[in-house]
Amino acid sequence: MEVLEHALARHPWPESYGGAHTLAAEVHTAGVGLHSGASCRVRLAPASRPGFWLGWLDRPALPLERLTPAQVAETTLCTALQVGDRRLATVEHLLAALAGTGVTQAELWVDGPEIPLLDGSALPWVELIAEAGVQELVPAAAPPALQRPVSVYGGGGWVTAVPAPALHLGAAIEFSEPAIGRQFQALPLTPARFVQEIAPARTFGLRSQVEQLRAAGLIQGGGLDNALVCDGDRWLNPPLRYADEPVRHKILDLLGDLALAGLPRAQVFAYRGSHRLHTALAAALEAELAPLSA
Ligand SMILES: [Zn+2]
Repeated sequence: MEVLEHALARHPWPESYGGAHTLAAEVHTAGVGLHSGASCRVRLAPASRPGFWLGWLDRPALPLERLTPAQVAETTLCTALQVGDRRLATVEHLLAALAGTGVTQAELWVDGPEIPLLDGSALPWVELIAEAGVQELVPAAAPPALQRPVSVYGGGGWVTAVPAPALHLGAAIEFSEPAIGRQFQALPLTPARFVQEIAPARTFGLRSQVEQLRAAGLIQGGGLDNALVCDGDRWLNPPLRYADEPVRHKILDLLGDLALAGLPRAQVFAYRGSHRLHTALAAALEAELAPLSA
């Protein structure tokens, strides 16, 4: 397994996903959204209840809403949620960073239509979470155990979750572009392994697609500094952080989408996954696990 050396890997992260954790302090950042090009502020705060809770910085009197897979409104280029009368796009890398570092409950306060893309990976969010610190909560309920396999498919791909003692994530992708080709990666995940092996993997796109999207007025905030762009047999902006950075980013996206329902004790594998399939699996897992935790 390749290892990208960075200081955060040595941070005292929770040992496993077995407990309950929140942030030890409030932290905030700001940045530009990939699709809208609009700037957005984000404040992360400790939460007293399980789950991820969304509030609006510009409407602080509104009650916080718990994020769930039922709010997924759009999955074409990112995962966008409809929460009350507002849309919030590109939630997946922030949610991956929170759930991936073992945080099981937090408040997310935002004031824009889209979570900032930052460098296209979860690493800047992991840095922010490290700045806040992660605090253990006791007593913690054990994460829900899946009792039987759950699968979703569509668009030439599938995502399956099978019962397992701990979280294990994997993905496979197939592209005709030789620079990407076929990639496979799977690993038993812990917060430390997430930070070291998954969080730094950046968003990627194809040059042809990028030009089309830009012409259509999308990805206004996208650039060569926040997404890897593939042009056939080469990358426009090397070097890669890992030789298989694209499939690692798929695992990052999968984790972020699963976080909408809370990370299950399961082995989850995505073959040619997409935000549509990941969030459909999150909804299926939530339905499967709900009667047990009720
Ligand atoms: Zn992504």
